Amino acid sequence: MRVLLLGGTTEASLLALVLAQHGVEAVFSYAGRTESPVAQPLPTRVGGFGGVAGLAGYLQAESISHVVDATHPFAAQMSLNAIAACAAAGVPLLGFERAAWVAENGDDWRLVPDLAAAVDALPITPTRVFLAIGKQHLADFARKPQHHYLLRLVDAPGTLPLANATAVVARGPFDLAGDLALLREHQITHIVAKNSGGTGARAKLDAARALRLPVVMIDRPHLPPRRVVDSVAQVLGWLGHADLGV
Ligand code: NAP
Repeated sequence: MRVLLLGGTTEASLLALVLAQHGVEAVFSYAGRTESPVAQPLPTRVGGFGGVAGLAGYLQAESISHVVDATHPFAAQMSLNAIAACAAAGVPLLGFERAAWVAENGDDWRLVPDLAAAVDALPITPTRVFLAIGKQHLADFARKPQHHYLLRLVDAPGTLPLANATAVVARGPFDLAGDLALLREHQITHIVAKNSGGTGARAKLDAARALRLPVVMIDRPHLPPRRVVDSVAQVLGWLGHADLGV
């Protein structure tokens, strides 16, 4: 057995630890988006494979027997490529993905299907927006330049595609006290978030509820049907290592 673990999430790091502890042969793969990615206890490669054909070739060249896609729920291109490449190479694929967040009593969420709809959902009148979507799609919000945008990024940004913006550099997990302080300090009136799920980025939603702030919540991109689990134990079961436990 030789596992390719497509990473970039807390779940991927958790799984990497368990595979390493139990001596399961595996390679961890990062896209290479952040300057100093979290070190992994597995042999690690960094960078794209070169599309579906590149990944299919990699699977063959590296004698990969199983692929676990533990990329972020919004990393849809990588997940689509994994589906196609694994089908082409005849390698079994498992998605490892945390459950989406669900609105609770007291939440004021406006659900939108994608980034463009999130921009549309912001008001016409100037507001102060916590734009909690990472760095890749900030330029989409240039269409609403009247707002002030607070950004939270893993790495110090170069030139920002938004003129009216403040960036704070921080890496999760985040907590309620910290996110309450951040929203108050920057006098935030609206939050834009991706429905990533999990605990590391959840505090902003709890803080929004406490402060009665509206959240524009972007739904996950839709993928073709594939086998998906949401726990390390289930991944181990799929790998035929249920005996290892966690
Ligand atoms: P994406 O749009 O789905 O992927 C674009 C391309 O990046 C892929 O086609 C692939 O290039 C390469 N790639 C992505 N993940 C890779 C991986 N784990 N190993 C090797 N190559 C990878 O993905 P994205 O939204 O740019 O996200 C990039 C990474 O950041 C992902 O690993 C994801 O887990 C992490 N991340 C994303 C988000 C988000 O909101 N999108 C949030 C947190 C973390 P080739 O076609 O050349 O193979």
